[in-house]
Amino acid sequence: TAEVVPQAPEDPLFGLMRAYRADQDPNKVDLGIGAYRDDNAKPWVLPVVKKADETLRNDPELNHEYAPIAGIASFTSKAAELILGGADSPAIREKRVTSVQTISGTGAVHLGALFLARFYTGSKKVYLSDPTWANHNQIFSNVGIPIAKYPYFSKETSGLDFEGMKAALHGAPEGSIVLLHACAHNPTGVDPTLEQWKEIAELLRVKKHFPFFDCAYQGFASGDLMKDNAAVRYFVEQGFELVIAQSFAKNFGLYGERAGCFHVVTSPASDAETTIARIASQLAILQRSEISNPPLYGARIASIVLNDPKLFAEWEENLRTMSGRIITMRKALRAKLEELGTPGTWNHITDQIGMFSFTGLTEPQVLKIRSDFHIYMTKNGRISMAGLNTKNVEYVAKAIDKIVRE
Ligand code: PMP
Repeated sequence: TAEVVPQAPEDPLFGLMRAYRADQDPNKVDLGIGAYRDDNAKPWVLPVVKKADETLRNDPELNHEYAPIAGIASFTSKAAELILGGADSPAIREKRVTSVQTISGTGAVHLGALFLARFYTGSKKVYLSDPTWANHNQIFSNVGIPIAKYPYFSKETSGLDFEGMKAALHGAPEGSIVLLHACAHNPTGVDPTLEQWKEIAELLRVKKHFPFFDCAYQGFASGDLMKDNAAVRYFVEQGFELVIAQSFAKNFGLYGERAGCFHVVTSPASDAETTIARIASQLAILQRSEISNPPLYGARIASIVLNDPKLFAEWEENLRTMSGRIITMRKALRAKLEELGTPGTWNHITDQIGMFSFTGLTEPQVLKIRSDFHIYMTKNGRISMAGLNTKNVEYVAKAIDKIVRE
């Protein structure tokens, strides 16, 4: 009965957004939510998305019938090529991939978690980076997969705690599931180097761990699609069996349209095609009971762009615009802090990549900067770089300077 349902806390990130909206201060700055903003702090519809949208609207054949259970094939096949590095990826050539269109990246992580909860035969524990995207915890617990952590972020260097990470993964029960952020780690902005990825791959191979890649920032992080999928490509080249959750929210600016994909890649074997067919059949059953079939609009937009070389090139240009502006803001924030002589080191601001930066501000400092300067960030000191622009970066730097000195 209704009386037994306890009150749940508000989602911290969406609560932060609400507090920001209610704030009447003219200088307020939103560094909370991970969504791209232009230099005027406004949402940006990618020009290439506008074009694809027009094509879609002018299509006289367009209707609103159901998508197939696994989604639009012209979208999922190109999505697989995108994350795996092209049609000549060994996994694609050898037909060792099956893909399902999902409710953006969240739905992809969920479908993957559900699939593993049902069929994974290794040690059924998932290792998440500490810290990680907060939703990872809820998604895996919701399907009953126990969660363990591996160290990731070093407070001393504001970089990767590589030794801690390796030690934890080495100590994990053989055959554990290991969740890895493919690029632009959320919330820290800290990624392993390719050399470190190779060591991680070797460790996972020796320990028979199962890689679960979450990729929410391909192309958005560096502006180079092939750079941002380098870790995934390396693992696939090494013959790993793995899964990938792929989001098109950030790189297409299609946040609310929920375009995403879940991919399973099996290891090279003579019966790969029949294995893939069996996996696809089970994914279809899970998908049917969860969402029946995925939403069309975002996937149609992405599909138009991914299947047209000219639009694809324009998309890459749009990606460089977004990532370029963010990289410029990283440089500006660091330069201002160093100019002010703000106590501490600030090289991590430009070393980290992608949407977020882990500033190193403590929770009391985060609360103080909110009440004194109307600057909103999550309690762990994470800032969304896209919230900075040429008009507010100095204000933010000065506020950080004041708070750090207190
Ligand atoms: N994984 C990570 C690590 C993310 O940062 C995000 C976006 N915040 C997602 C998955 C999924 O987001 P969405 O469902 O909006 O695609």
